[in-house]
Parts: sequence; C-alpha cells; structure tokens
Amino acid sequence: MHKKYGVWPAIQHYGCVVDLLARAGRLRDAEEFIRKMPIEPDEVLWRTLIWGCKVHKDMNRAERLIKRLECQKLESNDCESFVLIGNVYASAGKWHDKARTRELMNKRGLVKPPGSSKIEIYGKIHEFIAGDSSHPEAEKIYSKLVEIEKKLREEGYQPKVSEVLLEIDDEEKAFQLSHHSEKLALAFGLIKTSPGSEIRIAKNLRSCEDCHAFMKVISKIYQRDIIMRDRILFHHFSNGDCSCRDYW
Ligand SMILES: [Zn+2]
Ligand SMILES: [Zn+2]
Repeated sequence: MHKKYGVWPAIQHYGCVVDLLARAGRLRDAEEFIRKMPIEPDEVLWRTLIWGCKVHKDMNRAERLIKRLECQKLESNDCESFVLIGNVYASAGKWHDKARTRELMNKRGLVKPPGSSKIEIYGKIHEFIAGDSSHPEAEKIYSKLVEIEKKLREEGYQPKVSEVLLEIDDEEKAFQLSHHSEKLALAFGLIKTSPGSEIRIAKNLRSCEDCHAFMKVISKIYQRDIIMRDRILFHHFSNGDCSCRDYW
C-alpha cells in the first residue's frame, strides 16, 4: 500500500483484513495477523475476531481471546465488548459465564441500550423498542406477529432460542424473541405497506440470529425485499437469502 500508493495502513485497514480472514473462517491466520501487526490492535479488532469465532463456532479460541480482552481491554466504559462476550457465551449455552459477564457490567454501571428499530411509513418515522406496546396500533402489530409466526411454523421454521440471553424455558424464550424491535417494525411494515413493496428498517444494535433468520424467511414467504441496517452493516433480504450471506 505504501510503496505503490503512498498510503500508510491505518488501524481500519488492518481491521478490514481481520474481517476478511474471519469471514473466510481463517481464524488462526486472523489471530496471527493481529499479533504481528506493527501497530497496537484496538478492541474493535479483537471483537471482530471473537465474533468470527462465534460464527464459525470455535469456542476454544473465542474463550481464550475473551480472557485476554477481559484482562487487558475492559477497562473502558464501553459496553460493546461485554455485550459481545455475553452473546458468545449464550450462543454456546454457557449461562454461568454469561451471568458473570452481566455482573461485571452491572458492577461498572454499564447498561446495554435497549434494541430499537425504526421504520418509515408514508413519510413518518415509527420507532419500536423490544417488547414495546406503546405504539397506538400495538394490538394490531402483535396479532400480526402471531399470524406471521403461525405461518412460519407451518413452513417448518424453528425459533433460534439459544439467542435469548436468559435461563428461561424454551417457550418463554420464543416469546421474548418474537418481540424484538425489528420484528415489531417488520410486522407494522407488513400491515401498512402494499404487497410486494420493499420494507426498510434501521436498528441500533446487531440483530440476533433469530431475527436474521426470521427476516430471510419472511422475504420468501411474503415475497418482500427487506433492507435492514443494523449497527454494523446493511442486510438485503430477498427470496429467502441475505446479502451478508449469514455473516454479520
Ligand atoms: Zn432478535
Ligand atoms: Zn444479513
């Protein structure tokens, strides 16, 4: 980069390489790359790699890196690393470790912001918080969700309950999952827009696996293109697939 284009690689460039390697499942190469880079890696780089471990289900590496991150980097008051760590543990069913992370967060007075999704309908922005029932049309929205879920189950769709970060029974987990903010926004969009039209949603956090899978199935069953921007990137759901190819 420098020889040919006169650009010194910055942390963001290193981040791109780590992301590419992690996406490709080359976790070992990604880790080695971080260790060998000539500038100090930041928390974002380690998180990118840990997220890669979660996606590619390399829990040993994830845990080792988490320990490192916990020792070295968690001095900052940034709750994103804690949230990521909690997610990794929850996805592996390690509820004890998940609870420990939550405790650490509480001790530091860090609160995960609630999930919030926005959707624009005829020039007006509607915002939904997870489990929200304050919208004037909340009743309609929740019954639409029940209808959608029934349809999805008939198609063989199973909620991904491992994503719910609590030790509760599966039925309760499924219930909580079904009220994530992007699902509320989507149900509202399906009610308010004409069949076949595109739905656009903006979310403040990363979506959970279940919401992502849910959007994919809806795009197929309801024949709707859904564009969802989350904390990290844009997802374009169409005919049962997502532009991110399930890596986000
Ligand atoms: Zn969700
Ligand atoms: Zn996606």
